Amino acid sequence: MSANQPEIRVERLTVNYGGHQALKNISFSFQCGQLVGIIGPNGAGKSTLIKAILGLEKYIGSIEICGKPIKEMRKKISYVPQRSSIDFDFPVLVEDVVLMGRYAFIPWYKKARIKDKEIARDALEKVGMTHFAKRQIGQLSGGQQQRVFIARALAQQADVFFLDEPFVGIDATSEEIIVSLLRSLQREGKTIFVVHHDLSKVEKYFDQLILLNQELVGAGNVSEVYKPELLSAAYKGSVTVFGNNDNMMVVSS
Ligand code: ADP
Ligand code: MG
Repeated sequence: MSANQPEIRVERLTVNYGGHQALKNISFSFQCGQLVGIIGPNGAGKSTLIKAILGLEKYIGSIEICGKPIKEMRKKISYVPQRSSIDFDFPVLVEDVVLMGRYAFIPWYKKARIKDKEIARDALEKVGMTHFAKRQIGQLSGGQQQRVFIARALAQQADVFFLDEPFVGIDATSEEIIVSLLRSLQREGKTIFVVHHDLSKVEKYFDQLILLNQELVGAGNVSEVYKPELLSAAYKGSVTVFGNNDNMMVVSS
C-alpha cells in the first residue's frame, strides 16, 4: 500500500475525568477502510476512546481521521452509542429515528426531502426492519432496536463508523445481520470501529484489533494482538487464558 494512504491516527491520547485518568498516553494508527475491534475489561476506557475520537470528551494528544482533523470530518462520522445510554421511553417512530441520520444534511428551515426519506427507507431495508417502520422504538426487542440505530448510522452515509458494544443483549439473527452489514460496509471502503466484549468472537469478526486497559496493550492485526500474554496483561484477573496461539481458550474468571 502507498505510504500516504489515509489513516486514523491517535497520538499520545490522554483523557482525565476529574482526578481519574481513563486513558493514558494511547498511540495507534490504522489505515482507513478497515474493520477494527476494540477490546478490554470493564472500565478499560473503550467508550472513552470512542468519545474522545468523536470529539465528545476533552483530551490531550492528537487525533486525525483519514488524514483530517475531527472537526472537518464530523458529518462523515457515524456513532452508535451503547444501547444502555439511550432513553427508550421517548415516544418516537422507527422511521423517524432513521430519518434523524439525515438531519445534518437538511437545513433547519426545510422539511426532509423525498431523497432523504428514500435514503432512510433503504437503510431500514438493509437491516431487515422495513415492516417495523411505524412502530414505536420502545416497543421493539433489543436486537431490533440496535438494527434501527444502525440503520440511522447508515442513513447518514458516513465514511467512518463507531459502534459501542452493538451486540450486547441482542438475538443471534440481529447479530448475524449486523456482522454481515459491517463486512459489506468494509468492502465499500468504509472504516469501522466496534467496541466488543465477547472475546470468543474476536477472531471471527475482526482483522484488526485494539486491546487496552487504561494504557494501550496492543494494536494491529488480530493475529498479533489476540495472544495469551497480551490478553492476560489487559484483563489481569478477570479472564484466564489457556493454551497457545493456535489453540487458545479464554474463560471469564
Ligand atoms: P469501558 O467502556 O471500557 O467500560 P469507560 O470508557 O466507560 O470504560 O470508562 C473508563 C473509566 O472512566 C471508568 O473507570 C469509568 O468509571 C470512568 N468514567 C467514564 N465516564 C466518566 C465520566 N463521565 N465521569 C467520570 N468518570 C468516568
Ligand atoms: Mg463502555
